[in-house]
Parts: sequence; C-alpha cells; structure tokens
Amino acid sequence: MSLLREAERCIANQGTHATLNAFITTRQHSGPWLQRVRDAETRRTQGTSKSAVDGRLIAIKDNICTRDLPTTCASNALDEFASPFNATVVEQLENAGAVVTGKTNLDEFGMGSHSVHSRFGPVKSLRRDRNEESLSAGGSSGGSAVAVATTQCHAALGTDTGGSVRLPAAYTGTVGFKPSYGLISRWGVVAYANSLDTVGIMGRDVSSVNDIFGVLNRPDLRDPTSLSSFTRSRIDANLRTPALASRATSPLKIGVPIEYNISELSPSVLCAWSRSLAYMRRQGHSIHPVSLPTTKLALSAYYVLAPAEASSNLARYDGVRYGNSISDASPGDYIYASTRGVGFGSEVKRRILLGAFSLSADAMENYFIQAQRIRRLVQHDFDTVFRACQPLAFGSAVKNMDSEKNGIDVLICPTAPSPPPRISSFMGNETVTSHPHAYMNDVFTVPASLAGLPAISIPVTVDSFVDSGDVALAGIQIIGQYGDDRLVLKVAEQLDGKRL
Ligand code: GLN
Repeated sequence: MSLLREAERCIANQGTHATLNAFITTRQHSGPWLQRVRDAETRRTQGTSKSAVDGRLIAIKDNICTRDLPTTCASNALDEFASPFNATVVEQLENAGAVVTGKTNLDEFGMGSHSVHSRFGPVKSLRRDRNEESLSAGGSSGGSAVAVATTQCHAALGTDTGGSVRLPAAYTGTVGFKPSYGLISRWGVVAYANSLDTVGIMGRDVSSVNDIFGVLNRPDLRDPTSLSSFTRSRIDANLRTPALASRATSPLKIGVPIEYNISELSPSVLCAWSRSLAYMRRQGHSIHPVSLPTTKLALSAYYVLAPAEASSNLARYDGVRYGNSISDASPGDYIYASTRGVGFGSEVKRRILLGAFSLSADAMENYFIQAQRIRRLVQHDFDTVFRACQPLAFGSAVKNMDSEKNGIDVLICPTAPSPPPRISSFMGNETVTSHPHAYMNDVFTVPASLAGLPAISIPVTVDSFVDSGDVALAGIQIIGQYGDDRLVLKVAEQLDGKRL
C-alpha cells in the first residue's frame, strides 16, 4: 500500500473510531503534514527513504513531550501544558521521516491497568475477535494500543513502568515491546518511577515494532540513564561468546517459569500458553521448566517501589514551579495545598499517599528497604536461569562458564492472567479499578520490569478453544536476559500472529 493511502486510511479511522477515545489530541493533517508523507512517498520510489518509518503516521502516548501538540498526562494537574521541546524519541522519529499523528489517552501519569483513570474518560477497546466496544483496553498505554489495533496510526509509542505496553497489547491483540532499561532515551518523557520507566513500542506486527526500535535504540547524552556507546559495545561483546553466537542458527532453549502457572489463570490463556510452547517445540526448540521463586513477591515489591518514586516525582506539580496553579485560593490558603488537592485524580492521590508512607521514617525499613531487597532477588532469579550472563553485573563472567551450558535463552509465559474485562464491570467501582484486584493484572509483567529486562507481548489466537469451536485471543510474553533484545524480537517474530 502506498504511504499516502495508508496515511489517509489512518486519518479516516481516527474519525470513524473517535468514540473509542484512543486519542486526546489528533493532528490536523492538512497542508504541510500530508506533504511530509508525499515527500516520503517520492523518496521511497527513488529508493532514498530516510528509514523504515519514513512517511509513517506514529501516535505518541500523552506523557511524552511534543513541542507542537499539548502534553497532558491525562491529568488536570497539567491542563494545557505546552512543552517547549520534543522528547528525544519524538525527535528521532521525526528525523527518520515519521509523522506524529496525535497524542494518545492513558491512565493519569501512567498509573493504572485499564486506561480508565483519565481526565478525558476511559479508552474503549474494539476487539477484532468479538467485535465488542466495551472492553478494557488495558493500561496505561491503552490509547496507543487501541489506535494501533484499529489502524488509526501505523504504530505507536507507549511507556512501560510495570507492564503498560504489554498489558494493553495483550488486551487489544497487538504487539507491545518493552526494551531493556536504558536502551531508549527518556529525555522528555514525564517520569512516573525513574528506576523502572521505559519507552515501549506498539505495532500490529513484530516487524513494524522492530523498525521503530532500530530508530530509537541509540545513546542520548541528555538522558543520564541512557546507555553509552561503550556500554552498548560491552553488552554486544557479551552476547558474542561462541555458545551465545551459535543461537543465531541453532535451536533455542525455552524456559517455562513454573510459578507463572497460577490458579487465577483463565483457561483460554492457559491454552494459548501451552499451544505456543507446543508450536515452538515443533519448530525444533526445546522446552525447560524453570523456577523463579521470588515471582510471588514481585507484585507487592513493585507496588511499594513505584508509588514511592511517584510520590517524589509528582511533588513538582505544586502550582509554583510546575502544574496549574489555583491562584484564587482564599486568603490564608496555601497555593500549594489547594493546587495539589484539585489537580490529581483519585488513583494518583492514592499512589502519592502510599509512596509517602513507605518512605516515611517509621515505615522505611519495613516497606521500601524490604521491597528493594525483593527486587534484587527477582533479578537474581532471572540471572540464575538465563544462559547469557547479566552484562552489567559485577563478576558475571565467572558465572557465565556454567550457565552457558545449562541456562535457557528466553522465557515464554502469559502477559496477563485473563482476557480483558468489560469496562462496565468496574467503571465507577473504586474497589475494582484500584486496590489489589486491579493490581493483579500486572502479576506477569512486573518481574521483568523490576529486573530491567526486555519483554514483548504478542497476540496468539487459539482455535477450537477447549473443544468448543470458540476462538480466543491471548497475549503471550517473551522475556530475555538484559541486553538480549534482538533475540526476544526474533523469537517473537516466530510466534507473531499465529493461529494455534
Ligand atoms: N499498572 C501498573 C501501575 O499502575 C503499570 C503502569 C505502567 O507500566 N505505567 O503502576
């Protein structure tokens, strides 16, 4: 399809699917913007395309700064915020010829799992397999996921702190990739929990995700957590030992984490998981049960650490330096107190309170410090099972001798324990949209986040599910060792869009 034709189709779909609420702001694609697509079309015919995304319409989650479109984080705290600069990732995409088509809806500041905690109302998902409009899109990058699933854009950027591109991908039948922590720049991305935040990529197939990753996978001096060229070379060298290099052509060892087979797993997800493993075995790979014993504690640790970091990050929206200011506060009121009371939604307030508590002197040792310890154990669990060593860990080369023989290459597990719920089943019901019930959705995504590992969710369709003749769609997650992003994408390509 021509680039212009694809762009026009996306723009038409933005109108048709406006009720899904995937976008907060869309670009008026008149004049110069469409001209960019035409120019890319000309370059394409001349064989001088700037990149694989030249002339493609890309949607950007609304917690990533754009100079010429407002950035709201779906919050009243940032009403009408206009960033004076583009985030590095936006700059990189535009330099590669991509056109930013709009800003997508999300849970306020990225906090949530269903994209319902938005000042602009919930995102709704239109599932290909069920043709229903009322399902949860997952969160917090639900707007990006729905924009991709309904072809309102070629691909989209999201952010993933504890699963926010992978869960929406699983719920909407799209591909969601969270690269290793530090590979993609976060300069200009509004911080939620810095030690976990990553920019993620969403697409309708693995190859379009791969194209965007190729554009964004670069060092950025403006982001102090972005890996330098030196460290990147070290990571690559780490993957070039004879045993690891042979993975390019020989069968892989696929790990199945036994702790992920929880009682809450729905039958359709379990079926998609086991058929995916059977398919990989038919492709010649071997399957190995492995144990990640700290998995059980990962979710609790995440929900201590992420709110703690959030409470400190969100302190800046005080109406003095950042955020809206309630300037008509009555005499005697503090601008600060009035502003913070009205700007944030209930879920964000809950996280700030939780975070402030776990960082308080009395609670610190029992909550924050314990959670940090669990985080180390989660990382250690992964390091024990992978064949490749953790390239940034001290003394990893020693461990490498042993694990190169016995370790596995990637883990395959579900992305979410169950299919997407109906929005009507929980809208307006605070006990379901927050608290442990909603947090449970992240149980399979947070371990890789705590360890900073690359992970991708891909859609797998199961036919004649449980002998009923029904078709079910589930997200299957592939997790790799730190820095092994290319292998994760390669395995994902093999399973991508399979009917099993
Ligand atoms: N659902 C998780 C949370 O609310 C993950 C969010 C994210 O990855 N941004 O913290």
